[in-house]
Amino acid sequence: MTKFDVAIIGSGPGGYVAAIRCAQLGMKTALIEKYNTLGGTCLNVGCIPSKALLDSSHHYEDTVKHFDDHGIEIDGSVLVNLEKMIARKQSVVDQTTAGLDYLMKKNEITVFQGLGSFKDQHTITVSKADGVQEEVQASHVIIATGSKPNNLPFIALDKERVITSTEALKLKEVPKHMIVVGGGVIGLELGQVYSRLGAEVTVVEYMDRIIPTMDSGLSKELAKVFKKSKVKILTSHQVTAVTRDNDSVVLKATDKSGKEVELIGDYCLVSVGRKPYTDGLNLEAAGIEKDERGRVSVNAHLQTNISHIYAIGDVIQGAMLAHKAEEEGTFVAETIAGQQPHIDYNLIPNVVYTWPEVAAVGKTEEQLKAAGVTYKTGQFPMRALGRSRASMDLDGFVKILADATTDEVLGVHIIGARAADLIAEAVVAMEYRASAEDISRMSHAHPTFAEAIKEAALAATEDRALHI
Ligand code: FAD
Ligand code: NAD
Repeated sequence: MTKFDVAIIGSGPGGYVAAIRCAQLGMKTALIEKYNTLGGTCLNVGCIPSKALLDSSHHYEDTVKHFDDHGIEIDGSVLVNLEKMIARKQSVVDQTTAGLDYLMKKNEITVFQGLGSFKDQHTITVSKADGVQEEVQASHVIIATGSKPNNLPFIALDKERVITSTEALKLKEVPKHMIVVGGGVIGLELGQVYSRLGAEVTVVEYMDRIIPTMDSGLSKELAKVFKKSKVKILTSHQVTAVTRDNDSVVLKATDKSGKEVELIGDYCLVSVGRKPYTDGLNLEAAGIEKDERGRVSVNAHLQTNISHIYAIGDVIQGAMLAHKAEEEGTFVAETIAGQQPHIDYNLIPNVVYTWPEVAAVGKTEEQLKAAGVTYKTGQFPMRALGRSRASMDLDGFVKILADATTDEVLGVHIIGARAADLIAEAVVAMEYRASAEDISRMSHAHPTFAEAIKEAALAATEDRALHI
């Protein structure tokens, strides 16, 4: 039996980052992964492949819809080769996961391929597909087993026509009509991919707005853009049935007035959230407790009820985001090493990679109102920027919410081109507890999309945006 300082179960962004940081801190580290490739949901069937398809479909859309405006004429037809597009996505995934193999070797991390399951509080049995078993013993264990797609109790996922994001990343044809259950981040990102490629897309959302956990201004603006692109959005609709009939899928829902609505499509993507994954871990053998939502329970140090066993990422409470899992991986490694790390969960940014992109950090207007905080708002439209006109990316705005008394920035909400990258400025500013005036007095390169942040800060400070 091999003995380690730390054994990590699951090699997603939480697990592999924890492994690297543990190794950097001098710990003898084991990483256990049940799949053949490292990287978990994010690298294999999540962040990376979805962004690869968003990028490819964006190129196609620009070619057929926008090149002409730029004086670029296509002499001949422009066709989608979906097989090639999906193959390119896979090669991006393969390069990225191969990069992890390199990082594990470089950091002298021992990788065990097989299902990890607790034998006792210090021993994990690793079972390979061929039945061979190994045991790993460790002084500390980090559970990083991630999450799986959620479903509604009355939907039978056949993974051919009634599918999750995993299948939507490898379809063999462009759907004629893709019905999307859930207007959250997966539904909108993958809905936009197939809409750009020519599918009719209808998003059915239970709440009264899409991306309902983000600031309502962002929901409204994104819905406007989606409607312009002919994606149909049905909010306040309660799905009651999804059935497959040969090559068709029939969805029934009840609208706000109680009327039954029926949709017929050829694919139905179910994207109603994800649930923590602990199957096969045998948590009972180590006496590890879960909460009422099936998540591994942890304290502020991310320790489970067994003090040398930690848990991070999607399998515990909090946002199901790769960068949140990564921060927690580093946090636990440093905690085990005796350091005193810190994570400010309020400053974990949230991004939707549609175009325009949507990105936010800190509090929404809804949250500030609910908490009774008095705040000022500075908003600046992207269309007023020279950079936006040059690239013809006119949709969206930056909204900064600042404390009415102290001017401290409490939330930044961006929808527009490159919002995913722009939000980093807001995170830095808020991490250093900047005021809106601090941001407004910093030079922002011209012409850039980032100027909208400066302008929104000016608007929040003294209602003195310069370019509107
Ligand atoms: P995971 O990445 O889920 O990794 C867990 C790993 O543990 C898996 O490899 C699994 O096989 C392994 N495992 C489980 N049980 C065992 C066991 N018993 N033994 C051994 N191994 C085991 N987040 C973002 O921040 N940005 C994005 O753009 C983004 N896009 C996404 C797009 C899609 C379509 C999806 C589905 C998700 C996306 N996410 C995104 C969410 C992101 O993928 C997750 O938040 C992130 O992967 C969580 O990391 P994790 O390490 O906690 O778990
Ligand atoms: P989500 O929580 O973002 O959205 C689910 C949506 O489904 C919500 O709007 C919810 O109101 C709706 N819904 C729930 N039950 C419904 C019902 N019965 N009928 C109709 N609508 C219903 O979840 P997701 O889009 O499945 O994504 C899962 C997780 O993956 C998210 O937590 C997200 O953090 C992560 N993810 C992140 C990114 C990113 O960071 N860009 C991309 C993809 C996924």
